[in-house]
Amino acid sequence: MVRPHFRQTERFDRYKALSNIWFHHRMKFSDLGLSSKVLAAVEAAGYETPTPIQAQAIPHVLSKKDVLGVAQTGTGKTASFTLPMLSLLESGRPRARMPRTLILEPTRELAAQVEQSFEVYGQNHRLTVALLIGGVSFADQIKKLDRGADVLIATPGRLLDHFERGKLLLNGVDTFIVDEADRMLDMGFIPDIERICKLLPPSRQTVFFSATMPSEIQSLADQFLRNPERIEVAPPSSTAKTITQGIVASGSKPWEKRAILRDLINNAQDLQNAIIFCNRKRDVATLFRSLNKHGFNAGALHGDMDQTSRMATLDSFKSGELNILVASDVAARGLDIPSVSHVFNFDLPTHAEDYVHRIGRTGRAGREGVALSIATRSDSKYLDAIEKLINEKISWHGDSSFSAQSDDEEEDGKSRRGSRNSKRGRGNKKDKVAKDRRDKKENDETPDQKEERKPRGRRDRQDRTNDQFEAPARPRPPQQHRGNRRGRDRDDKQVIGMGDHVPAFMLAPIRPPKRKGKKVQSETAE
Ligand code: AMP
Repeated sequence: MVRPHFRQTERFDRYKALSNIWFHHRMKFSDLGLSSKVLAAVEAAGYETPTPIQAQAIPHVLSKKDVLGVAQTGTGKTASFTLPMLSLLESGRPRARMPRTLILEPTRELAAQVEQSFEVYGQNHRLTVALLIGGVSFADQIKKLDRGADVLIATPGRLLDHFERGKLLLNGVDTFIVDEADRMLDMGFIPDIERICKLLPPSRQTVFFSATMPSEIQSLADQFLRNPERIEVAPPSSTAKTITQGIVASGSKPWEKRAILRDLINNAQDLQNAIIFCNRKRDVATLFRSLNKHGFNAGALHGDMDQTSRMATLDSFKSGELNILVASDVAARGLDIPSVSHVFNFDLPTHAEDYVHRIGRTGRAGREGVALSIATRSDSKYLDAIEKLINEKISWHGDSSFSAQSDDEEEDGKSRRGSRNSKRGRGNKKDKVAKDRRDKKENDETPDQKEERKPRGRRDRQDRTNDQFEAPARPRPPQQHRGNRRGRDRDDKQVIGMGDHVPAFMLAPIRPPKRKGKKVQSETAE
């Protein structure tokens, strides 16, 4: 069955319209050297012409060259490596526990989407595709590996878990793909990738895809790719004209932002469904709870959720059962979420490109869309970067602007705090008490925040159960700690101090010093 993701999507139409190369090089899929089985599947998927990244990458991948591709999700890059891989895999058979090809993805969702690509593009093949991702049982994955996999799609953590359990040999891998390499870097997966590269046979073909090319990725490519063909397609840097954008000024307190967001939702015209983006996953969880408490029909998508609930939430949003989805970039990136009427940025993204990605979820295929971003004073540098990237000024929504706000945020916060706490405050006292209670409840610690206060060691171990930090079934030597993060998504806290390692002396029970009589009692009572 062809899933909606693989139909000629609206996002894709927009990309096509943006791409100049598209019109200049009208190549055909049949010019690229793909097998007839693959060509038939491409035709069944309804694709007429290869995208620029496909036209450039497919011939190189087919001729077993190393490729360094600079391209983002939405450019058709998945097919640019899956189609030639399928052609190459037509000869040969897999052996037990020795996959023939390996694709690394940074998140479970992206890995699952690539698996779907193989289902669609490989509909005329009889290939075994194994998906090794966290959050699901090892047993079924082991069974698949035992049968022999033509294609292994994995997240780095789970792959290494299987390897260390002796369930997997990597010396039969012929083609190795690292997708979204810059994302891997953000998530601290680079040490794992280096380790995996060293477990692969030196004669393999290596393909790296990355949306950007930071120096860390470039040096990784220098280390592990041999004479790569460098291919680049322009990142989306413009926004659809059908999107009405706006900035809404807010104080920096989360409750202020939440109140503004509720107003925006309540006063939005023709809101059918909306995605609300937060920069941090714990804010996703807090906001999601707050919105539901206020009677909104919201779901959440963040890295701490298990795979089943993420997929269930996404399905409910797609079917219209939920009309608001609160999400982090990590959880939402690359997902084929249907077009929405409204996008709200609860936080302004710290990377300008993320803004383009986020608001690109609305205003597709000529339809009207609205994208409103809540910004605090300290966001002004991010706002500048966004406006520079999209080459336009985003107007202030309503009569808000930083300058229209009370003198400064700090003042603003103080005065509000003052009025809430002041006994001499004006207005109905009863109302004020009720409001105090509401505000307090709103700001009560969520489970995520409680989690934040746990002792470091315990928290860090649990944090790794999300999509970035796969739950390790094995102790990691300290040098392999995945701490190489640039904090782009700030979904997790970096490990400070001892990290996972708790010295034995700290685990020994603490005996209180013996003291005498009354004094001891009064001390303990304090
Ligand atoms: P990707 O960048 O791989 O996530 O692909 C983005 C979207 O473009 C997916 O929904 C694909 O199904 C679609 N797509 C990929 N290649 C083509 C093509 N040559 N023609 C039309 N749609 C395509």
